Amino acid sequence: MREEIRQLIQLQELDSTLRALHATRQKLAKDLADVNKAAEEEAKRHEDCGNEAKAFRRAIDRRELDLKDIEARIQKYDGQLNQAKTNKEYAALQHEILGLKADKSRIEDEILKMYEQMETQSAEVKEAAGRVAAAQAAAEERRKSVETAANDAQARIERIKKERAELAAKIPRNFLDPYERLLQRADGRAMAPCRNYVCQGCRMALTTNTVNLLLIGDKLTFCHSCGRILFMPEGEDLTSIAGAGRKDNW
Ligand SMILES: [Zn+2]
Repeated sequence: MREEIRQLIQLQELDSTLRALHATRQKLAKDLADVNKAAEEEAKRHEDCGNEAKAFRRAIDRRELDLKDIEARIQKYDGQLNQAKTNKEYAALQHEILGLKADKSRIEDEILKMYEQMETQSAEVKEAAGRVAAAQAAAEERRKSVETAANDAQARIERIKKERAELAAKIPRNFLDPYERLLQRADGRAMAPCRNYVCQGCRMALTTNTVNLLLIGDKLTFCHSCGRILFMPEGEDLTSIAGAGRKDNW
């Protein structure tokens, strides 16, 4: 195999590793963002829950004031009862007092129910606080492991970039430039092996002419379908393939 092709294959391996490392780093960042978001959501839920409980407490306070007001009015009418001048006046006061007592008992029941509800609510707030703590601990744990993994990936990226630059500097431009152009493809694979007259990059059949050019190997041969740089892998046996007229001499 031509030295330049060998170097390009090596370059492709480095580029594939770089690509995988970049993907790893992105995935780590996303993982961390997800876990941070989950913790923030729990904190928000806890805050909402707490605000709701406070608002409810204020509603109870208001209802207790209503109750005090009614009790004061009952007391006032009770006092007036002794000074009533006529039966009619007495009956009217009594009627008023009965109405107020009914209101009082209704509000007392209401407040009792509200206190029960408040207990459930405080348990919920407590639970939410527990979930916030758990989510924050998980986020912190994840942050640590992501940081380590991201640093590792970054160090490997730097090393491979250096290795790649050294290798690329050795490859002649007429081999390197087409490779670099093809590298911008979606899958980042510029090279494809030819096996059994089939381009392994796109799985399309190659013509005898293309394979013959590839076997001569004095310049770059491209796949007509996907445009990748073709190479004959070591050990590819063409003797049994009809139409291959020559043996791989790389
Ligand atoms: Zn192809």
